[in-house]
Amino acid sequence: MKLLTLAMMLLSSAVMANLHQAPPSLNLNRNAKGIFVDFKKVKSVITYDINKRSAKVVTSIEFEQTEAGMPVFDLVPTPTSLSINGAGATSESTSLSGVSTVRFVKKALQPGTHNLVILNEISKNLSWNSNYVKSAFWMSDLSDRRYLEQYLPTNLEFDQYKNDIEVKIVGTEVEHVLYTNGETKLLEKNNWSVSYPEGYTASSLFYHLTKKGLIPEEKKTFTSIDGRQIPVTVYTSGSTSKFMKSSLKIMAELERDYGPWPHAQLIVYGAGSGGMEYCGATITSSSALGHELTHSYFARGVMPAHGNAGWVDEAVASWRDAGYPSYSEWRLSRTQMAGHSIYRRTTDRAAYSKGMRFIGFLHEKFKSQDSFKVFLKNFFETRKFKPFKTPEFQKAIEDFYNTSLTGEFDKYIYGKKGIDESPKDLTENEYHPHLTDKQLFDLL
Ligand SMILES: [Zn+2]
Repeated sequence: MKLLTLAMMLLSSAVMANLHQAPPSLNLNRNAKGIFVDFKKVKSVITYDINKRSAKVVTSIEFEQTEAGMPVFDLVPTPTSLSINGAGATSESTSLSGVSTVRFVKKALQPGTHNLVILNEISKNLSWNSNYVKSAFWMSDLSDRRYLEQYLPTNLEFDQYKNDIEVKIVGTEVEHVLYTNGETKLLEKNNWSVSYPEGYTASSLFYHLTKKGLIPEEKKTFTSIDGRQIPVTVYTSGSTSKFMKSSLKIMAELERDYGPWPHAQLIVYGAGSGGMEYCGATITSSSALGHELTHSYFARGVMPAHGNAGWVDEAVASWRDAGYPSYSEWRLSRTQMAGHSIYRRTTDRAAYSKGMRFIGFLHEKFKSQDSFKVFLKNFFETRKFKPFKTPEFQKAIEDFYNTSLTGEFDKYIYGKKGIDESPKDLTENEYHPHLTDKQLFDLL
């Protein structure tokens, strides 16, 4: 029994140890290397003080470092204070090969397990009223550094870690409600503890705190094909029944195509203005709902390990939106959707059109063997909650259909044969329009 427990522990830590998907170490200066690390356990306490109008966060991170150097993490706001293994330290931002920015602790550490404690304040997507607060962790995969790092210290998207958050609101008697995609316990009025699944990454969390009763909500359960009763929460100032009806219908459609709903819940915030996907949650307009729920399988079920893998989920969701069409090779365009810098953290917008047609081309190419949906279902089953990169996606297709796709991926995905530029690549996708800071704030 003990051996079995040990074996299971080893297995679970092996599953979540994602350093093999981390980008290469950084040369910070002549003597210092920036090392990507493996977050093991993170706990944040967020305190909203209505009188002081402050949202303060204390986060403790246990991480493992396998190489000597300065540990890399990310947090967009400058920390108020920071300590490493109990001693005060500082952090600094640095360029990620010119395509992004990260933060690192300015102290060289030896390999091993370390404890990092960070204090910071949240200021983004936060709105104060005289006796209540609204706060949300809105994210985007189309702009750089728009995941959890805008609000809390986190790692890059390759890493999965156990994350617990305690939320407290002080200085008000007004009751609040917290919509979030973790196991939530109400400790007392305006005080919750939330435990998120170990498979979550920086792009997984849905978090929206608001005054109770401000936005109408409806709750139902969805009976999954595997027998689970999955709680579905819809809240919107539009029609809750319309969003609920569509959500249940789309969940049933996705289960028929790709298997059981991969999350413990579904939360739908019907706020309009396109949408954004999270694990078993979305903020969405009613027209983007199907697209966003597909992302609970592809994007937040099967997860990209970095920006160069982000095209897959947009291509797949767009292929579904279009009704799973077929495309001949002459309809394809040469792109470098997976040929950008290894450090890039955002998705190439060509995914919605050119990426979608590439998926439709694979569907056409292999349809005498099996629909590409059958491959996608298989890929989902074997790869869910294990962040992947494009070469692994390519290899899985090649193995499934027993063929080589080197020529096709080099030409249409990696940009090795040049790129067909078109102004359309820069146009907005109807489901993921670019929202200004003001528009995002107004969604609170
Ligand atoms: Zn999308």
